[in-house]
Amino acid sequence: MNERRFFVKNVEETTVVSGEEFRHAVSVLRIGKGDEVVLCDNTRTEYPGTVLAVDKASFTVRVNGKRENEKEATADVTLLCGYLKGDKTEYSVQKAVELGARRIIVFRSEHCAAYMNENKLARLNKVSVEAAKQCGRSIAPQVEYFGDFAAALAATDAKNKLFACEFATETTFDLHALRGSTAVVIGPEGGFSEKEARLAAAAGYATISLGKRILRADTAAVTMLSVVMWELGELQ
Ligand code: SAH
Repeated sequence: MNERRFFVKNVEETTVVSGEEFRHAVSVLRIGKGDEVVLCDNTRTEYPGTVLAVDKASFTVRVNGKRENEKEATADVTLLCGYLKGDKTEYSVQKAVELGARRIIVFRSEHCAAYMNENKLARLNKVSVEAAKQCGRSIAPQVEYFGDFAAALAATDAKNKLFACEFATETTFDLHALRGSTAVVIGPEGGFSEKEARLAAAAGYATISLGKRILRADTAAVTMLSVVMWELGELQ
């Protein structure tokens, strides 16, 4: 079984875990006094510890040491994706975390059919934490939301900026030569407008075609991240 990992804001010698992480710990994992756990504070460092006590709304961990998490990707990869209907964005977030993305930006664009709200954003962040735990990461990327597409494009200073465009006829970037921090942009179900493609080009994004078939947005996100992570040596 996976180590039992919990995400907290700050790790101290004695750390109290409450809120969602506590609820999950007692109702699903049935955490008890004396159990070994790992605390993560969204850095590459993780902290093994022992549960000292379980109370009504929190449990307390004595930290026994610290070590570098070995599952985190070395590559710094950001996914920017259009907000999708239903639980499709949750799927994209989950897969992006598994594939090792460092940062996830969800944006609203011209052909977006879904509306974001605080609860939905909180839900996406919960999905990120769950996925990070499941695959043994010590960083659960925070999911950020941008209501403005141009602002989303400008929110990354990645060295390589890639724009997956369903109406592109060619790819203007040599993916085999990919090195360094990388951002990939995937549109919503409705795709991108010509104007948005021009905006991305003006913001320094290279155009990527994923071939003749139009992929669903969630498929395109997984495909782009897989290709990028492979080329960066993270899936080998
Ligand atoms: N509704 C659009 C398709 C949108 S697909 C249409 O029918 O044309 C959703 C997103 O996935 C796109 O905006 C793009 O970012 C990505 N995508 C899907 N297929 C692609 C392809 N063949 N090449 C590049 N990107 C693709």
